[in-house]
Amino acid sequence: MKKNVSDIGWNFSNSYTSFSETMYTRISPVPVKDPSIVIFNKVLSKELGLDFTNLSTSSVAQLFCGNVLPEGSEPLAQAYAGHQFGHFTNLGDGRAIVIGEHISPKKNKFDIQFKGSGPTPYSRGADGRAVLGPMLREYIISEAMHALGIATTRSLAVVKTGEYVFRESPLPGAVLTRVAASHIRVGTFQYLASKGDVSNLRKLVEYSISRHYPHIEKEENLAIALLNEVIKKQIDLIISWMRVGFIHVVMNTDNMTISGETIDYGPCAFMDQYDNTTCFSSIDLQGRYSYGNQPIAAHWNLARFAETLLPLIHQDENEAIKIAEQIINSFKSKYEIAWLKMMRAKIGFFGKEGMDSMLIHKLLQWMHSSKADYTNTFCYLMGHRLGNIKSYQETTFIDWHKEWQDRIKRSKKSESEVLSMMQSVNPVIIPRNHLIEESLQDAEKGDLSRFKKMLKFLKYPYSYQEGLVSFQIPSDREYKTFCGT
Ligand code: AMP
Ligand code: MG
Repeated sequence: MKKNVSDIGWNFSNSYTSFSETMYTRISPVPVKDPSIVIFNKVLSKELGLDFTNLSTSSVAQLFCGNVLPEGSEPLAQAYAGHQFGHFTNLGDGRAIVIGEHISPKKNKFDIQFKGSGPTPYSRGADGRAVLGPMLREYIISEAMHALGIATTRSLAVVKTGEYVFRESPLPGAVLTRVAASHIRVGTFQYLASKGDVSNLRKLVEYSISRHYPHIEKEENLAIALLNEVIKKQIDLIISWMRVGFIHVVMNTDNMTISGETIDYGPCAFMDQYDNTTCFSSIDLQGRYSYGNQPIAAHWNLARFAETLLPLIHQDENEAIKIAEQIINSFKSKYEIAWLKMMRAKIGFFGKEGMDSMLIHKLLQWMHSSKADYTNTFCYLMGHRLGNIKSYQETTFIDWHKEWQDRIKRSKKSESEVLSMMQSVNPVIIPRNHLIEESLQDAEKGDLSRFKKMLKFLKYPYSYQEGLVSFQIPSDREYKTFCGT
């Protein structure tokens, strides 16, 4: 039996259209020539309550490139602004369209967004399109992040458009379907603040709270309450990035969500050798968004967020600044407490001892000086021997190891309790950059076998699976990522 497009289970309730039309432009995806499905996330579609069985693959492709829009969809491109590498610019969905807000069977609301769906009024002269390789890269890394337990947008499908996209050379075009708690960004608030539109700002605060933080709906000052919640969520997020060695690489304010999800997987990458200055980006020569600078960048972005809320924090501007500064200044100590807690778990420390921070920093310093792999060092501590074993024979490490074991003994926890805590936070597999690139090169030629195999392993990043070792060895080649997406 063939299924009708309308039987799929879409359940749209498009609340963003309740804002005035300065916040978005109603626009449909630009149709593409010859769409075909490259990858489809069946598990996610089930979680969303969508059922595509019995629908032909060509009909699914027509749906996920935007040639056919589901019933109830109200496509729009959102307006926003943002500080890009410190410079304020007006932006917006230049190549993305939210087709609607879907409510899942568990009553959670998700934006369904096409990325690469053609130009919009916010395209600033660019083509509005996306290339297959980078869309598959977003697919695999966002799904890996989800499996790592890190808040992130998800990827539902990648469809090849059958059209070429011109970058330095003609490349196969694609549309990614992104699923997000919402697409409200720090930049969305900046867009309204830059226009002095306090009435929509107030509405956006209320809207963000009802969508993401309903438990603070009754707070006396909603702007202050929202600011506090967003700071909490962003600290959680950055801590989890630091835990697994993830480097976002483009932490502009337009890429920081109010929901606390990781968004916009462009040139992001995972750190191999431990080095705080690791950045990977070919355009970020100053290392503004390097691994070690991520908390600093988040703090800076949150200060920009607080600035947009000033008129809602207090009617007296000086008073508002005083309140906002106090909240923003609390970031550093909150972050440091959370970081120490996370690092304690990574090395199996229960309870707190005054010397913990020193022991953690000693380990990191050793990793840096001996060019040890970040992920695999924690695997080594969990008893899993990998890669350059020789460096673990260095006296500095042996001395540290003894101090570490003494500290663990003092906590009086069993070996299995220590190990299970470590195993719950230390991934044994991360998306290694060189392997991602290799699998994407194959995928661009039409062979998805390596891509799918890697995806399968990345689904269980905290468990040992047979054949895992081939995904664990870092490359010794320097890695750079580019913005050409
Ligand atoms: P990103 O670096 O992906 O966060 O994008 C920054 C801004 O550039 C956003 O407003 C995007 O919509 C826009 N943008 C990126 N690539 C394109 C493209 N190919 N066509 C139109 N707009 C784009
Ligand atoms: Mg962006």
